[in-house]
Amino acid sequence: ADASPAANPVRFYSQALHGRFTSRLAVERELHHALERGELQLLYQPKVDIAHGRLCGAEALVRWQHPLRGRLGPAAFIEVAEETGLIVPLGAWVLREAIRQMAAWRRLGLPPLPVAVNVSSYQLRRPGLADTVRDNLRETGVDGSQLCLELTESAIMDTGSSAADTLAAVKQLGVHLALDDFGTGYSSLSYLRRFPLDELKIDRSFVAECASGTGSAAVITRAIIAMAHGLGLRVVAEGIETEQQLDFLRRQHCDQYQGFLYSPPVAAAEIEEMLHRSNSIAAAA
Ligand code: C2E
Ligand code: MG
Ligand code: MG
Ligand code: MG
Repeated sequence: ADASPAANPVRFYSQALHGRFTSRLAVERELHHALERGELQLLYQPKVDIAHGRLCGAEALVRWQHPLRGRLGPAAFIEVAEETGLIVPLGAWVLREAIRQMAAWRRLGLPPLPVAVNVSSYQLRRPGLADTVRDNLRETGVDGSQLCLELTESAIMDTGSSAADTLAAVKQLGVHLALDDFGTGYSSLSYLRRFPLDELKIDRSFVAECASGTGSAAVITRAIIAMAHGLGLRVVAEGIETEQQLDFLRRQHCDQYQGFLYSPPVAAAEIEEMLHRSNSIAAAA
């Protein structure tokens, strides 16, 4: 029998709907268990100082080690977590785990490494984010200035006054704020002044087209960097995969980059080795 959509559009449509529905329910049900059973894990992607080529931070990126389906990326479950409210306990776990990891690195005598955590707009709209951050910093003794929260434009755009209060309270702890994926959303320049941001991250899709140094993407990237610097913001380029892209960004005095060129997201133990290496290089110098 011909199973193609064209052969039987109605049947295909209902199957597609059904398949999607059950899998959403499954994700929701299983995500509950994942939190309880400790199936979530954080990987860390290095942030690199462009001028010196040195490791200067890391971004925590959540993964779900699913017992049957293997390791799942955020694309497989963050949306469901947001729609079901599970993002709140999930986000709290991510914050606690990242800060715990920072404290563990410090106990090992490693040089302090600033860590960035992605925060969903749903977390920002609910009260309690600033308390979660404050409690975890207090319990571990980690300095707030070593933590950065990454927010997207849509997250800070639809914020009411309570979210603005949350951001202000987080800033009071010395925590840095980054605007993630800049260039993909509304990219209204007014946010850059209205919110107490420290860092702007230029989206990967945008930087990818800059390598030639000509063309509109290059012109705009150059303007974004100049403008961000004019406002006193640090600029980080995401998703750098080639030397050409890096060269272009270096010439534009972009501050930091992340991307497969240096390293994909890795387990905490690998970051530890990178820190050990940079420690011994510093000691030998
Ligand atoms: P993001 O914060 O913009 O993170 C960057 C994404 O780009 C990561 O995907 C990373 O693995 C990927 N990436 C990094 N370098 C390269 C590169 O050179 N080339 C390519 N092709 N990709 C690169 P990932 O880990 O799948 O995360 C996707 C998104 O999920 C993140 O985008 C972030 O918005 C969200 N996310 C991740 N972890 C969390 C979390 O703990 N909480 C929340 N709320 N969202 C998270
Ligand atoms: Mg991010
Ligand atoms: Mg990003
Ligand atoms: Mg992105």
